[in-house]
Amino acid sequence: MTGQQRVVVIGAGVVGAAVADELTARGWTDVTVLDQGPPWAAGGSSSHAPGLVFQANGSKTMTEFATYTVEKLCSLDLDGEPCFLQVGGLEVATTPERLQDLHRRHGWLASWGVHSRVLSPAECLEHYPILDEGQVLGGLLIPTDGLAKAVRAIEAQGRRAIERGARFVADCEVLAVDTEDGAVTGVSTSFGDFAADIVLCCAGIWGQKVAAMVGMTLPLTPLAHQLAWTGPVPALAGQVAEVVRPILRHQDQDLYYRDNYDQLIVGYYGHDPTPVDVSDIATQFRDGVMPSVLEFTPDDFAPAWQESRKLIPALDEADITEGINGLFSFTTDGFPLIGESPQVKGFWVAEAVWVTHSAGVARAVAEWLVNGQSSYDLHECDVNRFEAHQLAPDYVLARDCQNFVEVYDIVHPLQPMDHPRPLRTSPFYTRHLELAGQMLEASGWERPQWLDANAGLIEGRDIPTPNDWAARYWSPIVGAEAQATRETVALYDMTALKRLEVRGPGATEFLQRLSTGNVDKSIGAVTYCLLLDERGHIRSDVTVARLGPQHYQVGVNGNLDLDWFQRHLPDDGSVFVTDITPGTCCLGLWGPHARDVLQPLTSADVSNAAFRYFRAQQLYVGMVPVTAMRLSYVGELGWELYTTADMGLKLWDTLWEGGQEHGILAAGRGAFTSLRLEKGYRSFGADMTSEHTPAEAGLEFAVKMDKSDFIGKAALAHLADTLPRKRLTCLTIDDPHAVVMGKDPVISGDDVVGYVTSAAFGYTAGVGIAYAWLPAELAAPGKPLEIGYFADRVKATVSEEPIVDPSMSRLRS
Ligand SMILES: Cc1cc2nc3c(=O)[nH]c(=O)nc-3n(C[C@H](O)[C@H](O)[C@H](O)COP(=O)(O)OP(=O)(O)OC[C@H]3O[C@@H](n4cnc5c(N)ncnc54)[C@H](O)[C@@H]3O)c2cc1C
Repeated sequence: MTGQQRVVVIGAGVVGAAVADELTARGWTDVTVLDQGPPWAAGGSSSHAPGLVFQANGSKTMTEFATYTVEKLCSLDLDGEPCFLQVGGLEVATTPERLQDLHRRHGWLASWGVHSRVLSPAECLEHYPILDEGQVLGGLLIPTDGLAKAVRAIEAQGRRAIERGARFVADCEVLAVDTEDGAVTGVSTSFGDFAADIVLCCAGIWGQKVAAMVGMTLPLTPLAHQLAWTGPVPALAGQVAEVVRPILRHQDQDLYYRDNYDQLIVGYYGHDPTPVDVSDIATQFRDGVMPSVLEFTPDDFAPAWQESRKLIPALDEADITEGINGLFSFTTDGFPLIGESPQVKGFWVAEAVWVTHSAGVARAVAEWLVNGQSSYDLHECDVNRFEAHQLAPDYVLARDCQNFVEVYDIVHPLQPMDHPRPLRTSPFYTRHLELAGQMLEASGWERPQWLDANAGLIEGRDIPTPNDWAARYWSPIVGAEAQATRETVALYDMTALKRLEVRGPGATEFLQRLSTGNVDKSIGAVTYCLLLDERGHIRSDVTVARLGPQHYQVGVNGNLDLDWFQRHLPDDGSVFVTDITPGTCCLGLWGPHARDVLQPLTSADVSNAAFRYFRAQQLYVGMVPVTAMRLSYVGELGWELYTTADMGLKLWDTLWEGGQEHGILAAGRGAFTSLRLEKGYRSFGADMTSEHTPAEAGLEFAVKMDKSDFIGKAALAHLADTLPRKRLTCLTIDDPHAVVMGKDPVISGDDVVGYVTSAAFGYTAGVGIAYAWLPAELAAPGKPLEIGYFADRVKATVSEEPIVDPSMSRLRS
């Protein structure tokens, strides 16, 4: 973005105020914050939030948002009154499974650089003496957690922004967002019109209503959440400080607690989800009641109170004296919604943000607006991440309610959503079911993790059983499928991999500008390359196949890549980008016998000389027109075979029949991941993100600095003489039963030095594999390290990579 812009922020809750502070701190002082409510406690969720800030999160970005919020609020006061009370956070376990999970959460915090400690029951009582020792099996203490004083933080940040030039206008309802030629020009309000280059929606539970003013669908749902105040608790009599004990979570019963002088405030997620339609939410206070507050429903709270008295027997002497059903936003995947509308230029959102993450999100948005990108990796939070079906109102409602239910649940990394399923099915779905595929789900697509029909393959093989956690969503068949792929040939359903068609007279120039590879090659050439941001950091990795002079097929990672392409389309209409994923399908035919299967089925010459590695051809497989690309994510001879959805089943059946004499099998994602890691192929989002440069991720080979200018090139040229300080590194794990799952801390001596990205057992290499980010000086082959895994430490060694076929002889055969 060039130069300072006029910004109107809709909503003066904890998010809007923080954005005004962050923008003005960066020199953008033409900021106007409008709110329909009165100043500082305007009546939204922030006005009544109890303000507990627990930093632990499986997402690195969400934890970083929280740690920044903690640091910032700790440094803020309002007329000498603190904005953060850093009393620590305690998560207790009352079940063995939860205690296990607290170790996992401790691992995440260690990975993301936040100090925490797993406590014995006696230590829990030292920190929280009114717990019933008989109930508690252990706890996780995060000393830097605490209580945000949300309304104080709003006023402190608001006042600071005002000192720098911002305006806050209260009692001013935005009625319309004005646009011209697809870009915002300002807002119309109950107080008159305000001109703007950027309108940022921080309207919390009213977000959908504001977004609808520009025709944008915001996939969030306001849900009621119960909060209750006890009367005085005799055991706390005489407590003069607002808070002395840590904030407390009792996730086994969907409960949390904070001190309030000699009382407790209790929050509860255990009741049935109560979604509220945005059109039913008032905009103004009613008889002093905030519009975001609904009447308390004591019956829903009864189980919470019973469980609370079990955990904290001192509550037997107290009663609930007050309660609310407060509204706040849930999303389909639990992440906030941040970014610019795909249709209307200058309309931005920062929605579904907890107090916990508010300052971090505000910083990310301000950086993005002022610098063109954020220093945080935002791929999980970008409002444009959703597939079309994920914006359907029924989907949003079902998933948001389920996320309310699961907010404190222990969720395995492979656990698929239960409902709504099945949603997206490839043409191979029925065949997978016939082969008793154990189906998991990704972006709505049904995919087998393994297929029980392959049970016979286990016999005679040595497939180590992983530890308990990794043994979920697992079968020894996964190992058998992986080994059999390298022995014979397998079919993998790759339909879920998003693909775009890029066409038009400007297509080559467009892709040259956006990608790091030289795609201006002969027809049939396939190029693996990266999409970078202006800092030279990785936005995505893509595979570009040239199918005609002005026609490319690009394999991408998700909707954010489509959004990136669309935002960069030239104004002259010379490039057309189409998402062809839903109308097409893809099978990976991979293994040493792949050519033996394919050749008799096609009149094209698929010999190594005629159809080389990283080339594409259009041919027929039997009667099926196919775009064949000689690529393999599993590191074997073979092809990705694309066809239209109507011909998919025929393609499967043709290959299946032809493959029988060569021992063809259908294989699942479990085998795929194992083989991918054996070959060292990175996965965007897990192994590398926008935090990383190509050199750090070991992907310099995908960057052609000698081609024409591309986004990120200047930044990379600037970095050329700088050695990476961190590296994505391959580790091997000796104990075949110790299978880590990702996000686990890597430890050298007593220091946490990095974290695992992807991991799996390598069934053909016979060794556990974990990729991890490490300081460059530790990324030396042979270096012994440890990986924190729940309460254990697993021995690991830095390895040369890839583990399998470093000479590429299998792929190029
Ligand atoms: C009971 C309860 C307990 C919670 N506990 C916690 C907790 O312990 N920790 C935590 O991190 N989070 C907690 N949350 C969640 C947290 O409160 C919210 O996620 C957060 O406050 C949202 O902040 P916001 O600024 O986005 O929205 P809000 O605070 O709702 O602000 C949005 C503002 O936009 C204004 N607005 C909307 N539409 C318009 C319009 N058309 N024109 C002008 N102004 C408009 C509204 O008046 C409002 O002031 C809790 C929520 C509830 C309900």
